[in-house]
Amino acid sequence: MILRLLPLAAALLAASAPVMAADTVLNLYTARHYQTDEALYKNFERATGIRINRIEGQEDQLLERIRNEGANSPADVFITVDASRLAKADEMGIFAPIRSKLLEERIPANLRTADWYSYSTRARVIVYNKALAKLEDLQTYEDLAKPALKGKVCIRSGSHPYNLSLGAAMIAHNGEAATEAWAKGLVANLARQPKGGDIDQLKAVAAGECAVAVSNTYYLARLMRSDKPDERKAAESLSIVWPNQKTWGTHINISGGGMLKHAPHKQAAVRFLEYLASDEAQIYFADGNNEWPAVPTVKARNPALEALGGFKADNLQVGQLAKTVVQAQKIFDWAGFR
Ligand code: FE
Repeated sequence: MILRLLPLAAALLAASAPVMAADTVLNLYTARHYQTDEALYKNFERATGIRINRIEGQEDQLLERIRNEGANSPADVFITVDASRLAKADEMGIFAPIRSKLLEERIPANLRTADWYSYSTRARVIVYNKALAKLEDLQTYEDLAKPALKGKVCIRSGSHPYNLSLGAAMIAHNGEAATEAWAKGLVANLARQPKGGDIDQLKAVAAGECAVAVSNTYYLARLMRSDKPDERKAAESLSIVWPNQKTWGTHINISGGGMLKHAPHKQAAVRFLEYLASDEAQIYFADGNNEWPAVPTVKARNPALEALGGFKADNLQVGQLAKTVVQAQKIFDWAGFR
C-alpha cells in the first residue's frame, strides 16, 4: 500500500514544487565593491537563507556580459553607479519592472523609475582654493563658464558619465542652447586639458594648479577620511560650494539597481531589492562609499558627510536624465569638452 502511494506522493510533490519552492540563490551582478557591502550581503543571507553569488566587474563589462548572455543570463539583479549608466541599461531592455509597495513607500518618487531603484545619492559639487578664487564667482554650475574663472577650472573628461549626467540635468533645466553655450564657456575656462578622475582634480586644486574643480562628494569624504596625512591635509585646504542653491539645487547622482528580465530567481531578486531599502542595508550601502541613503528617514552616520553640511538637492526625476544624456554627449563633443 505504502509502496503504491509513494509514486503518487512524489508526483504531487513534483507538481507543486515550482509553486512551493522558494529561491535559495541570488545571482548578483554588481559594479560596487566596498567592504561594507560584504556585511550587507551576509546579513541578507542570514535573514533569508538565500545565498548570494556575486559577480563583480566594471559597469560596462557587466552590462556587455548581460547583453551577451541574453535569455540564458543567470543574473537576477544588476547594481551600478550613475543614473546615465542605469538609464543606458534600461534602454537596452535588460530590466523587468517590479511592483513593490515597500519600495514605492521607502524610495522617493524622484529616485526611482518603473524599472530600477536608487539606493544612495552623491552630489556633484564645486571645490575651490580660497587663495585663488572668490566665493562670489562660483555660486552655480553656470558660473564655471563665466569669464571670471578664465584659466582656473579643472574637471575630468566631458565624456565621463558623471559629467554627462550633470550635462543632462543642465539641459533639463536650462535647455540645449544654454547648455551648449555653457560647455563652450567651460572649455574656454579650463586650466588644463581634462585628465584623471575627480580625486586628481581635488589634489590639483589643493596644490594650486587650478583654482576651481568639480567633484562628487564621496571623493572629498574619501580624502577627509584618508589614512594618508597628505590626503587629509589636501582635504583641509579645500573649500566646498553647494552649487545652485538659489535656483534648481545641487545636481545629485545615484547608485542603484533593478531586477533583470531573464532573472531565474525573481522572488529572491525582489526580496533583495526590498532588503536594500531597509534601515540596516541603507546605512551599510551608503556608508560603503560615503554616500547618503536614498531612504529619507535613514540618516547617514558619516562624520565626513556631516562636516560637509546640508544642502538643497536638485529633485529632477532620475529617469529624466536618461532622456537628455545622449544630447549632453553631443553638445559636449561640439563644444570640445572631451
Ligand atoms: Fe566614482
